[in-house]
Amino acid sequence: MKAILLRFGELYLKGNNRYIFESMLITNIKNKLEGESYKFEKTFGRYVIRDYENEREAEIVKKLKCVFGLYSISLTEEVEASAQEIEKYVSTIKVKTSNFKVVVKRADKAFPISSMDFAKKLGAIVLENNKGCEVELYNPETTINVDIRLNKKAYIFDAIEKCQGGLPLGSAGKGLLLLSGGIDSPVAGYLIAKRGLKIEALHFNSYPYTSEEAKDKVLSLAKKLCDYVDEIKLHIISFTKVQEAIHVNCRSEYMITIMRRIMMRIAEKICQQNGLGAIVTGESLGQVASQTMQSMTVTGGVVKTLPIFRPLLAMDKEEIMAIAKDIGTYQTSILPYEDCCTVFLPKNPVIKPTIERCEKEEGFLNLDSLIEEALQTEEVVVLKKD
Ligand code: ATP
Ligand code: MG
Repeated sequence: MKAILLRFGELYLKGNNRYIFESMLITNIKNKLEGESYKFEKTFGRYVIRDYENEREAEIVKKLKCVFGLYSISLTEEVEASAQEIEKYVSTIKVKTSNFKVVVKRADKAFPISSMDFAKKLGAIVLENNKGCEVELYNPETTINVDIRLNKKAYIFDAIEKCQGGLPLGSAGKGLLLLSGGIDSPVAGYLIAKRGLKIEALHFNSYPYTSEEAKDKVLSLAKKLCDYVDEIKLHIISFTKVQEAIHVNCRSEYMITIMRRIMMRIAEKICQQNGLGAIVTGESLGQVASQTMQSMTVTGGVVKTLPIFRPLLAMDKEEIMAIAKDIGTYQTSILPYEDCCTVFLPKNPVIKPTIERCEKEEGFLNLDSLIEEALQTEEVVVLKKD
């Protein structure tokens, strides 16, 4: 019978919490496969999916490859774990390359033949049925794997496909992704979700300085991330009044810095209102003036109760772009758009802002009421995977 064998990795490290991680992973797998018909079995160290509709196989595999916490999968033939049944199936295998190797693994040590001896025996069977084919132990073109598990089944397969890795979504808690329409922040959201952080998102727009299309773009980026995170609650806040106030009252080189500090304060409030435990940004050290060490000190400094996660901090743009392409956000991110940060963009943004100057500039603003007013403009959209 055909079966999909699923492997998970790091969960092994989790000691007594392993049970919680596993149950989250299983729930996430089942959510992802909602609407598919299949049977699920948990056996020691592996999960098995069987009894699915053949024509849905590719789609099921595609969905499983988006589940954080799964490390690899194999499309297998599942047989009873007896020498006779395994040999019977192996004798039907047609090797399509000129050489091969058989690898036997026994998670079930009660299986009466040693892995080496059994691999030799199976190799001989394959040779007999594939005239002209040779055994190649070091660099085989085809590897026939026989994995004998504790559920008294054996799984026979030739390929191991990589999945996302990471930790089950939700196992690290929940956070708020600051999502712009650029390349970086969707990648930051993906990477942090991969470490188990469930995300909501916050977008600031500057309508009418920024267009409806700029907002639609963010909606479609959030929607893309739903391939991995299933659902995103997107908070949209109008930043127009804040920006106008800064533009009128503060020195232009501090414009972006003060904007960022206000964004962070609003983000912290949204976190508090929604039970979110961290702020996530797409900042990368030194990428632009607002992402220097000094800039991050003064922008991060206003957040008092939460950590700020910057998964891209040490990445080059090239590396970030490669991930954006992999996860399918790149094409949307490069569509032309105006970000709220490009409105009133100063010619010479400060590279090494100081706390004292930030506080002085903010003294010209009515901070509390600006933040309060901005929060009043909040619009919430819940995006889901199709
Ligand atoms: P991105 O590609 O994510 O826009 P960027 O390289 O353009 O990043 P900045 O524009 O300096 O960098 O933004 C740094 C981070 O600040 C972004 O990654 C994002 O997390 C946050 N941010 C910027 N603009 C917005 C916005 N309009 N709404 C929400 N968050 C934003
Ligand atoms: Mg940007």
